[in-house]
Amino acid sequence: MVIKKSDLFIQKSYVASSWIDGEQTIAVENPSTEEIIGYVPSLSMDKVIEAIAAAEVAQRHFVQSTRKKRAEILQKWYDLLIKRKEDIAQIITLEQGKAIREARGEVDYAAGYLLWYSKQAMLNHDYTLPANDLFSARNVYYVPIGITAAITPWNFPLAMITRKAGAAIAAGCTMIIKPSEYTPFSCLALLKLGIDAGLPQDVIQVVTGPAKEIGEVLLSSYQIRKISFTGSTKIGKYLISNSSDSVKKLSLELGGNAPLIITEDADLDTAIKMIINGKFRNNGQSCTAVNRVLVHKNIKRKLTEKIVENIKPIKAGDGFNEDNYLGSLINSAALTRLANLVDKAVKAGAKLLVGGEKLYDKGYFYAPTVLDNVNNQMEIARQEIFGPVLTLFEFSNLEEAIAIANDTEYGLAAYICCQNARDSRYIAEHLQFGMVMINETRFSEAQVPFGGIKNSGFGREGGKEGIFEYLETKYIAKM
Ligand code: NAP
Repeated sequence: MVIKKSDLFIQKSYVASSWIDGEQTIAVENPSTEEIIGYVPSLSMDKVIEAIAAAEVAQRHFVQSTRKKRAEILQKWYDLLIKRKEDIAQIITLEQGKAIREARGEVDYAAGYLLWYSKQAMLNHDYTLPANDLFSARNVYYVPIGITAAITPWNFPLAMITRKAGAAIAAGCTMIIKPSEYTPFSCLALLKLGIDAGLPQDVIQVVTGPAKEIGEVLLSSYQIRKISFTGSTKIGKYLISNSSDSVKKLSLELGGNAPLIITEDADLDTAIKMIINGKFRNNGQSCTAVNRVLVHKNIKRKLTEKIVENIKPIKAGDGFNEDNYLGSLINSAALTRLANLVDKAVKAGAKLLVGGEKLYDKGYFYAPTVLDNVNNQMEIARQEIFGPVLTLFEFSNLEEAIAIANDTEYGLAAYICCQNARDSRYIAEHLQFGMVMINETRFSEAQVPFGGIKNSGFGREGGKEGIFEYLETKYIAKM
């Protein structure tokens, strides 16, 4: 594999201005072939403490940097990422297993955050209040929060980092990143490009190693003022419980359970497009993936036939083969979990229309699958499916659809397929989700304030809001 010889394929952590090894290593697998593609250090905790000390020094300098300087670094980082798009895409496919077409898309998506935050860096949000009886001058300032940490997942191993790091740099904050052990190489390649783009010493560092132990060091450090986490609700709740001692600011981008409501008047071709994009993007391993398809009873039969017709030809296989629409799942545990969820649903009364089986001897592939007659009592409807499995529900009226859609602990993304403007607006207003999209499922880009409510977390990434997660409000008044 040529990409493994590239200057961007780095098998080290980056701490205190150096690329370092560890006494122990973590093996990283290609999920499509089950072959080991490389190793990263499993750092001891003294190295994580060293990273925090280096970030303290870096933070003192970085806070003095001009907006223009930060904007220039982000713009250059964006340029380099776009220039090396194919190399980075190959690293993503190699370690994550997604189709190369999607990996290229992820590089564009990730780079978009660097570009967006290069513009956000230039904006001054400070303001002045009128004098009052006590003070002749009163000002409100937005100041960098200080040293931050990012803990990121494997499903979008590049974009989930730029949407945190871009905001941190724009705001004037240093960041220590802990990528997922399954996908460290795209993060390390990204850092290399950041250093080439002129990131000052130790403004970004990357630590690899045991998640729980690293998490404990980051959580207990008083110097780290904020942790931005993207991952499961279970770990998000753990971070809430364990960040109280150091009273740390958190932003949590957690799991989802997105409904897609298809009304009686929906355009069926639009519905099919929404299902294919919304469900099968990233092989269903996306927090915004369509988890439950709710269809009006009068169009259910016709739409179901169309769904089956469109899903049967979808090809899954090695992500490097351009003909494959779907890649592999991330690991063996994910494959077993998905197969169990489908089996339990069928035992509970769901009807298997297509798929429902593992594919090939090697790699973690699962066939595109459609389950009919699903209801909210089934485990598959209560959890994130995180795989290429579509579940079909039926409803009779809008109120019923809204009730089924909202009957979940999650509140990230929701979708509506409907031609009537009044109905779609009514549904959107009553859905309890952070983001609602009508007649389209492709929506993630840097301008969007991305985030959820309920068990999907809090805080927003991207949009005008994103930078404020890294700023504190400071009031100064003079008599
Ligand atoms: P995960 O198991 O929660 O892991 C996320 C990150 O947390 C990884 O870096 C993991 O490290 C680390 N981690 C695990 N245990 C930890 C601990 N005790 N302390 C500190 N860090 C710990 O989630 P995942 O399986 O990687 O990702 C899938 C989840 O992410 C899904 O639930 C998905 O919905 C969610 N997600 C949400 C969004 C959003 O924007 N809302 C976007 C993408 C994904 P290791 O991997 O090294 O164990």
